[in-house]
Amino acid sequence: MKSLAVLIRESGAPLPYAISRPLEIVEIDLAPPAPGEVLVRIEAAGICHSDLSVLNGTRQRPLPIIGGHESAGVVIDLGADVRNLKIGDHVTSVFLPSCGLCHECTSGIPAYCSVGAASNARGEMIGGGSRISLDGKPVNHYNGVSCYSQYAVLDERSLIKIPDDIPLDVAALFGCALLTGIGAVRNSAKAQPGQSLGVWGLGGVGLSALLGAVIAKASPIFAIDPVASKRDLALSLGADYALDPSENLRDHLPAGVAVAVEAAGRADTLKAAYEATARGGITVTVGLPRAEEMLSISALSLVAEMKTIKGSYLGSANPRVDIPEFVDFWRAGNLPVERLLTSTSPMSQVNETMDALQGAQVVRQVIHPHE
Ligand SMILES: [Zn+2]
Ligand SMILES: [Zn+2]
Repeated sequence: MKSLAVLIRESGAPLPYAISRPLEIVEIDLAPPAPGEVLVRIEAAGICHSDLSVLNGTRQRPLPIIGGHESAGVVIDLGADVRNLKIGDHVTSVFLPSCGLCHECTSGIPAYCSVGAASNARGEMIGGGSRISLDGKPVNHYNGVSCYSQYAVLDERSLIKIPDDIPLDVAALFGCALLTGIGAVRNSAKAQPGQSLGVWGLGGVGLSALLGAVIAKASPIFAIDPVASKRDLALSLGADYALDPSENLRDHLPAGVAVAVEAAGRADTLKAAYEATARGGITVTVGLPRAEEMLSISALSLVAEMKTIKGSYLGSANPRVDIPEFVDFWRAGNLPVERLLTSTSPMSQVNETMDALQGAQVVRQVIHPHE
């Protein structure tokens, strides 16, 4: 079938993207879903920093590629042998499919599925190959999702069914921002009630980490970002202190924080988070710095202060367990995801949304492929 979609032909276009327009709306051909795959009508797709990183070349993905990896929609067709979904189901996508069979999956850490990671790196479906073509030539999938499109073929292992009453603009954020941010606090750091906690970088993932810290009853909670409006939002979402990066967290808490979450994706921010981590504390990093960035810390402090540094991908999550839990938190009023939504726009505005994300003034923008 035909679908309008957002193509990245090459990376590294000059800013602003509203002028250079590197994201092209094209009409793709979608092959029917193969066994285990479904066709989804995409209703909402999030603008995440990793999309920007593919666009500016920070993160290497095979090009040309259809962008987008955070979305929600409705299942409208099924391939053969689909076991867990039916037509009409509302779904949210997860940007790393879990095969369920590899060593990592069977060890209970599907966030590290080696089969899904390999197919993502190749730009293919986890079942192999591409279902997208343009002018008769195959186009790559982005993390098995490619949701900047009116319709998308996804493996059922890339989808989680959600209840019908959740607004799809909200549900779109579950599969990346929330899994990554909340997962960093709950799964990676295992933050406990009463533990002090800091979040560096208040984008969609960082503010999700903050919401996770509130749910975990961490206290006090620090939120650190150079943008004043984001600090204000953090305070209204439950942070006890909101600091500019030029301020010293230890002026407020001399011992430092027991849990530090770095969500800015910069080595210097990770260094600041590590240095603000208390003796015996843990620094968890979820941001994706440029490949050439190196981290420089006091090697002695790691041992003498018995600190831990931990990387967290996909929030070390098990999406089939974590996302239904987010739904429960949201329904109980404890996960105000709506507050992270800065704006919604038609898909034709996708270049402008990337400029806004680059400018760092926005938290999460969502695009609507059918508008
Ligand atoms: Zn993302
Ligand atoms: Zn696996």
